Amino acid sequence: MTSINGPDPAATSDKSERAGILIVDDQEGNLRVLEGLLEDLGADIVSAHSGTDALSRLLERDFAVILLDVRMPIMDGFETAELIRKRRRSRHIPIIFVTAISDDVEQIAKGYAVGAVDYIMKPLNGDILRSKIRVFMELYQKGRELASKSEELTLKNTALEKEIRKRERVERILAKSRDFYLALFDEFPTLVWRTDEDGKITYFNRSWLAFVGRTLEQEKQGGWDQGLHSEDREKCVARYDAAFQSREPFEMEYRHRRKDGEYRWILNCGRPYRNLDGSFAGFIGSCYDITPRRKSEEETRAANAELEAFSYTVSHDLRAPLRSMAGFCQILLEDYVGKQGIDRDWQEYVERISQASKQMDALIRDLLAFSRLARDKVDMTPIETGPLLKEVVSSMRLDGNPVTVVGPSPVVMGNRVLLSQVFSNLIGNGLKFVTEGNEPKVVIRTEEGQDGWIRTWVEDNGIGIAPEYHDKIFQVFERLNEASTYPGTGIGLAIVRRAVGRMGGRVGVVSEEGKGSRFWVELPRAGAPVHPLSQAGSTT
Ligand code: ADP
Repeated sequence: MTSINGPDPAATSDKSERAGILIVDDQEGNLRVLEGLLEDLGADIVSAHSGTDALSRLLERDFAVILLDVRMPIMDGFETAELIRKRRRSRHIPIIFVTAISDDVEQIAKGYAVGAVDYIMKPLNGDILRSKIRVFMELYQKGRELASKSEELTLKNTALEKEIRKRERVERILAKSRDFYLALFDEFPTLVWRTDEDGKITYFNRSWLAFVGRTLEQEKQGGWDQGLHSEDREKCVARYDAAFQSREPFEMEYRHRRKDGEYRWILNCGRPYRNLDGSFAGFIGSCYDITPRRKSEEETRAANAELEAFSYTVSHDLRAPLRSMAGFCQILLEDYVGKQGIDRDWQEYVERISQASKQMDALIRDLLAFSRLARDKVDMTPIETGPLLKEVVSSMRLDGNPVTVVGPSPVVMGNRVLLSQVFSNLIGNGLKFVTEGNEPKVVIRTEEGQDGWIRTWVEDNGIGIAPEYHDKIFQVFERLNEASTYPGTGIGLAIVRRAVGRMGGRVGVVSEEGKGSRFWVELPRAGAPVHPLSQAGSTT
């Protein structure tokens, strides 16, 4: 559809096309002369033979300048110029009237009135004409460049506005979701706090405010450190400051005053949080009232201290009379056996008293060792199994050579004292539980598993254990044999299981009655990641 204004030049013009010059004259000869004069300018020269012709050319493309003959039949130059000016598309194209030298001043004034920018008199001077036209061509080129720049700017501006609107939308959603989460935090039973990126606490949830019995505004004015116990304040503030500086998560326990004035033990866990663009936004944290846990820990500590004192009493005060009983029995036996009036029964009774006191002493010793195992801290170090096993065997000062250590010597993670005790108990049992007349033989074999565990077998040629007792024998005082045949306290294997457990390992047995026993101990290899599931089915 074409209106009187024609299509929009910006929409139809080709940015790469050359500048156009429209020359309008009813005389073919004049057109040829003009074409000749202008051909060197590097422009597209379009000729029109009348005003109407010129108007149709103007619909086809854009021009840098129009050279318009004043005198033309039907529609003269002035009328044509008026119509050109009326059209939006051609309104701004400069028009130069071309007329004969005889035209008067009035004519020239009329030309300017309809929008001419210049006048050229015939006969034409090529140089003057070309330099004038060049000016308009340059203006045209500059105009086009400006239009293209402004088009580019408009596009960029539109994209920018779109981006700003998008960001504003995201910010609004974010603000809403923050409000939503803060409202959610208000419902949390735990105490929640949040800081800004400068470390200033800007939010405490309702539970916090209910705990301290203060308003949000009061609490924001340094409420947290004001509520701290004076003995904990310095340490807590330093810990918080350090965590904030390094932007590392932190956990700390301290006493905080509740609204009723009572100091409660609080576990405070803080974490840095970030904005959507990844920039640091501050810290957020939650606090838990751990007073009951701290109380029970304190009670346990007190109970442990009491037990410690009790153990000390047991080991010193209870064992001392036992040792003196055994000592006096020994003196009696040495001094009186063979003397007059001392018969066989006397000797047997004294021997029994001596043995019973020794048994009781061993029992107390083992029980003490067992209870200490639950309390004492266990330091773990890498231990090479081969040398440790040999050391244990040699410290047992055995007659003959009943124990053999075979296999590789991998390094496990364990506690040297505990591990020595474990193997000493297992070897001792292996040598003890043999049928009378049979020479005991114990073989210790270490295997390296694929899954990061090291398994050590302690195998004997003894009486064996029926499968239904395999678990039971690891409990305290569980003994399967008469003390008269196989002396013992029934605590050795309980110590083994607890010690191995404290080192993060496992223990078990493979055995049948009358076919010897194979006890095993598994510990993690030093420096190896352990696969806990691969241990399914074993006993600790
Ligand atoms: P103790 O050796 O002092 O009796 P333990 O706790 O070491 O106590 O062992 C518990 C019981 O397990 C033993 O009384 C015995 O019946 C059985 N037992 C332990 N080791 C072996 C073994 N190598 N062969 C056969 N039975 C064993």
